[in-house]
Amino acid sequence: MAFPDAERSNYAEIFAKIISPTMLQDKIKQLAKEYFSEIQANRRHLHSHPELSFQEQETAKFIAQKLKDYQIPFQAGIAGTGIVAYLEGNNPESKLIALRADIDALPIVEANEAPYKSKNVGVMHACGHDAHTASLLGAARILNTLKTEFEGTIKLIFQPGEEKIPGGASLMIQEGVLNPKPQAIIGQHVMPLLPVGKVGFREGMYMASADELYVRVIGKGGHGAMPENCIDPVLIASHIIIALQQIVSRNAPPKIPSVLSFGKVIAQGATNIIPNEVYLEGTFRTFDEEWRNQAHQKMIKIAQSIAEGMGGTCEFEVRRGYPFLKNNPELTQKAKNAAIAYLSEENVVDLDIWLAAEDFAYYSQIADACFYRLGTRNESKGITSGVHTPTFDIDEQALEIGAGLMAWLALQS
Ligand SMILES: [Zn+2]
Ligand SMILES: [Zn+2]
Repeated sequence: MAFPDAERSNYAEIFAKIISPTMLQDKIKQLAKEYFSEIQANRRHLHSHPELSFQEQETAKFIAQKLKDYQIPFQAGIAGTGIVAYLEGNNPESKLIALRADIDALPIVEANEAPYKSKNVGVMHACGHDAHTASLLGAARILNTLKTEFEGTIKLIFQPGEEKIPGGASLMIQEGVLNPKPQAIIGQHVMPLLPVGKVGFREGMYMASADELYVRVIGKGGHGAMPENCIDPVLIASHIIIALQQIVSRNAPPKIPSVLSFGKVIAQGATNIIPNEVYLEGTFRTFDEEWRNQAHQKMIKIAQSIAEGMGGTCEFEVRRGYPFLKNNPELTQKAKNAAIAYLSEENVVDLDIWLAAEDFAYYSQIADACFYRLGTRNESKGITSGVHTPTFDIDEQALEIGAGLMAWLALQS
């Protein structure tokens, strides 16, 4: 059967528009290469001009200027210094995928002597958020160039304050950044343990909830030689520290990892002085919201009962941190397969569970989320330092993957 002429040209037009995934992937790779020098320059600018959590004014201006240059519409001033940009493909209403980068730096004096060393002494991009932001700007530019070749809308979230409770993610969610809810939200984080060229994924529970514990044990001080006249808060605090370990060993569900550590114990007595009080600080981390809340109550009860039983009192404050981060299994499997298609099988690894916390977890509690890791290590260049250290750096070649893969995953989710 022959098509009428008019219809035939119509089909030809439609076929011309359909681009195969391989062709699309090649285009993304080509653009990531083409834009690499700018992505690198953006990362270096951000690295030289780091700003602390919720103070990212200049960083936000820089991102806004770049989005203007790329002619991508955006909204600034969300949760203070946050920015949300939109890329509309064909049928913009048909699908919504969100990509997120965090933009803040840490209070660390940089010890590297790179030309892009921090100019803001005492503040440093030691967690790679400069790389995340530069990669997302790169992905934005790539996707903007390919706008006629994908369906739906891609939302770009540049989020402040990841490093500081309550976390910029929670504030941006309060300001509606997940309304309407995207079908998927994807975030990436540098990984100095993973060689450049590789990425890592993990389905299900990936990062822990983290709550801060502040405990004041009050007794009655006096002469060390006359304990019978005192209520020794040092002894009470010691019992509390030991007893609270049963939260992990006896109360925590065995299938849910939990950690309880006290890293600060202050008793300012002396060899012959029993102090009035002891002060403790610790962290509690786990992977289940219900258990997390139960554990808080149990810890408070145990600590207070011990203190009371021994004649003292105990003030126990739990400062809630971020929830645990769960990677949606279907989305993560899909993203991992897409990454294998992009980087080949040997460059995509499975990650272990990690008991650090990350405020991307807030998004993962609401929408289907995938948080993956970007390899940035290069031993031959001496790039091996961990995040949050004064010598942290990345192999910048990772930025080409960081930008390209983000763009590719947005279109494959
Ligand atoms: Zn960090
Ligand atoms: Zn980080």
